[in-house]
Amino acid sequence: MSALIIDGKQVAAALRERLAAQVATLPFKPGLRVVRVGEDPASVVYVRNKDRAAAACGFDSATQVLPETTTEAELLAVVRALNDDPAVDGILVQFPLPAHIRQEAVINAISPAKDVDGLHPINAGLLASGAPALVPCTPQGVMHLLAAAGTPLKGARAVVIGRSVLVGRPVAQLLLAADATVTMAHSRTLDLAAECRRAEVVVAAVGRAGLVRGDWIAQGATVIDVGINRGADGKLTGDVAYAEALDRAGAITPVPGGVGPMTIACLLENTVKAALARRG
Ligand code: NAP
Repeated sequence: MSALIIDGKQVAAALRERLAAQVATLPFKPGLRVVRVGEDPASVVYVRNKDRAAAACGFDSATQVLPETTTEAELLAVVRALNDDPAVDGILVQFPLPAHIRQEAVINAISPAKDVDGLHPINAGLLASGAPALVPCTPQGVMHLLAAAGTPLKGARAVVIGRSVLVGRPVAQLLLAADATVTMAHSRTLDLAAECRRAEVVVAAVGRAGLVRGDWIAQGATVIDVGINRGADGKLTGDVAYAEALDRAGAITPVPGGVGPMTIACLLENTVKAALARRG
């Protein structure tokens, strides 16, 4: 059996279309502000893509670029001004930040109501307590892909590999909220292969190319590969040995073209959600 390949580009495009149609019916344009500090080349590309996607969906979107030498106090002042600006529904500070600025201080300074990255401790706490408000974008994208694949989650055994605040933990909590039976695996897990073999859903969020072998995948399982690894040849691969897993999985995301395209679409989804919640 060859797996259904879950096309993240298509799922993301459909979500953006839905959002654009919804935004067209609103009496206001959802306001998204992205703040970039310095000229990290990957961040320059990400932020440009976010801006373009937001504008294409009818948002009022703008990027504020600050020099590498910006102090933490100056960045926090920018964030507070955006918190107070009534035209702004969502604030995203692009990471990584220069080493002299504490990421945690910035996350904590963003108003939870405008925290479209879903990383503020209040939003993380709401998710952990089973009352999600603004959810981190990549984990939300994982849930959209599972829905697109038609994977039943109620009662299903799901293994999430990786327990980061950004990906693994929120994915596990979202799966739990969807009534899956969730195992969180990490670098100290004793027998990762055995944990995976029991699962109907495997989500890999580690950052190690080919860690998950094909024979770890139960026949017919859904595999969501969040990992992004750049090989010596410059090519991107995921955490799952894709060619091996194709023969066993029921559905699988490719890398690239799986989870990656979902992140920006979910940022836009969060901004619409934040705008509707704040503006009533
Ligand atoms: P991270 O903070 O480095 O976390 C990695 C996790 O993997 C940790 O919990 C770690 O366990 C676990 N781990 C490491 N080696 C392991 C092993 N041999 N077996 C089992 N678990 C192991 O990374 P992250 O930010 O969560 O990102 C994970 C991957 O997703 C990266 O490749 C990243 O580039 C990618 N990513 C993709 C997107 C996207 O849009 N597609 C977005 C975000 C991240 P410990 O906790 O025990 O150390």
